[in-house]
Amino acid sequence: MNIKGFAVVVVVLFGVVSAFSSERMAADIAVMQAQPRVAGSQAAFAAGDYLAAELKKAGYTVDFQNFTYTRTRDLGSSLSVGGVTLGANAVAGSPNQAVTAVLVAVPGVGRAEDYTGLDVRGKIAVVVRGTIPFLEKARQAAEKGAAGIVIVNNAPGNVSATFGQLGPIPAVTVSAEDGAKLLSGSQATLEARRISEEVKGRNVIAKRTEQPVVILGAHYDSVLGGPGANDNASGSVAVLELARQLSANSLSERTWFVFFDGEEDGLWGSRRFVEQNPELTKGLKAMLNLDMVGVKVTDKLGLGGDKSLFELTQTLEANVFDLGEQGRNNSDHAPFAAAGVPVLFFHWGIDVNCHQPSDTVVDIQLIAQTAGLVQKVVEKLLAN
Ligand SMILES: [Zn+2]
Repeated sequence: MNIKGFAVVVVVLFGVVSAFSSERMAADIAVMQAQPRVAGSQAAFAAGDYLAAELKKAGYTVDFQNFTYTRTRDLGSSLSVGGVTLGANAVAGSPNQAVTAVLVAVPGVGRAEDYTGLDVRGKIAVVVRGTIPFLEKARQAAEKGAAGIVIVNNAPGNVSATFGQLGPIPAVTVSAEDGAKLLSGSQATLEARRISEEVKGRNVIAKRTEQPVVILGAHYDSVLGGPGANDNASGSVAVLELARQLSANSLSERTWFVFFDGEEDGLWGSRRFVEQNPELTKGLKAMLNLDMVGVKVTDKLGLGGDKSLFELTQTLEANVFDLGEQGRNNSDHAPFAAAGVPVLFFHWGIDVNCHQPSDTVVDIQLIAQTAGLVQKVVEKLLAN
């Protein structure tokens, strides 16, 4: 269908035809992905301003929720063994120190019992990721007298890890491949180098009521070096277009459209939203979160969260599946779920370009279809 040269995707719901404008959404995506939108950066600020301006155009009151947090960044941590320097990530919260000592391969994940019969005093313990938290691994190693710890990833590639607070000894992670080369008795230098910076984040909130019944959310920040077309300009633009579609509809008087910042650094925007709006949050019937809805990785649309919301959505669209555990904690619905809000996460899977400079391509039709389904869910939720 083509109206005045604008391509549209027509979604029919309850006799109401809404036209999601592909051209307008493509233009939104182009603006959003022009540069990486790292929380606190000029580009993230510009993206927030763009969303706010578009939402105002659609007739909403727009509020910014400002918040700050501390982010630490790796400045080139390393692990050198026998003259070979391996790539390593300092665990966030690791003391910034260099340690030169002998490696001791601990059989296992670094629980107390894994150290039986080993002497790691003044040495660097090497343990495998998993089973217990990173901080617990470091505490066990420190308790046994280790001067540093190397945590080997239990999957291909390296991992970014955090202690969640200041850890007891310098700690780095290495890839599973590099970890396999680490032998007890080798002399090694572990260097943990991270900096801390204060980030000013900003959630963008479009509303027409002070007490919403439903929140539609998406994070609009991206990672360093990643333009984040799919992650998550796709979800942001879907929510923006939904705000436009619903603007002439009474549903918009009971819905907030929230664009979260600081998601990639640890769900800061959504956590701060829930913390600062406890009463509002308690009154919600649902929070629907869209993250990575522009590239079809899975055959079916992944949904994560509340069982009855899943079932409701399944009656509207059969081509869905339950993300289960993997849909629990990895995006902005998680803090709402933790506060007791029924949530549903919409997600088409993690594509190969995720968090890469190559995250530049999305399927506008897929975004429009997903947004159309979200609109049907909102219509159902607010019908009674
Ligand atoms: Zn994301």
